[in-house]
Amino acid sequence: MLPSLFISHGSPMLALEPGASGPALAHLAARLPRPSAIVIVSAHWESQVLRVSTGARPQTWHDFRGFPPALYSVEYPAPGDPALARTIIALLAEAGLEAQADSERPFDHGTWVPLSLLYPQATVPVVQISLPSRQGPALQTRIGRALAVLRAQGVLLIGSGSITHNLGELDWQASPQSVQQWAQAFRDWIVDALASDDESRLHDYRQQAPFAQRNHPSDEHLLPLFFARGAGGAFKIEHGGFTYGALGMDIYSFT
Ligand code: ZN
Repeated sequence: MLPSLFISHGSPMLALEPGASGPALAHLAARLPRPSAIVIVSAHWESQVLRVSTGARPQTWHDFRGFPPALYSVEYPAPGDPALARTIIALLAEAGLEAQADSERPFDHGTWVPLSLLYPQATVPVVQISLPSRQGPALQTRIGRALAVLRAQGVLLIGSGSITHNLGELDWQASPQSVQQWAQAFRDWIVDALASDDESRLHDYRQQAPFAQRNHPSDEHLLPLFFARGAGGAFKIEHGGFTYGALGMDIYSFT
């Protein structure tokens, strides 16, 4: 059975300069059974209410500014999966979660950047689920649990965010070896809480984790982790490390 995954998607430039994440994601894809479809919660689709992408041919959205022209010509032409999207809306309803269909939603870079490294052929259908980010971690855990059953049907469930995410404190010249202590401490606290499967501590990370506010001035890049954890089982670190001194690149599986 497929695990669920949490992927730190880094900067959009990862699509062109994949660094250590590229081989890590390629290795992961080679090891996993080929999924029939991918369901992904991206930090870059925040919404008020829960939404599910139902389009058959989602566009690739270059939802960022100021990057080199080559990045704007990267396309990820994977199909959508309207039938799976309807199944997801029904599973969410069974769990008491109302979700709206969104037939226009394109792939944001939180979706297509990591998927371009995981499945570069872009032939596996992809459904996106929005992130009602004001509702915090517990909702994401619930959504993950509601959809966990899909893993047995060959669907790969992914949360795409970032284990640490303070863009204002990045050092664009930093070597991969130089890591800010406050970023490392936060990441290690999360890993410890995941390893001990301590859900109440994890859900309360903003109060309990060291430097939580500094690592996540807002919640949205960590929330996909809770979706991935809710959807899966035993925690495993697939890849670790930092870029730009404080941007964690961790990838986890929940098997
Ligand atoms: Zn992001």
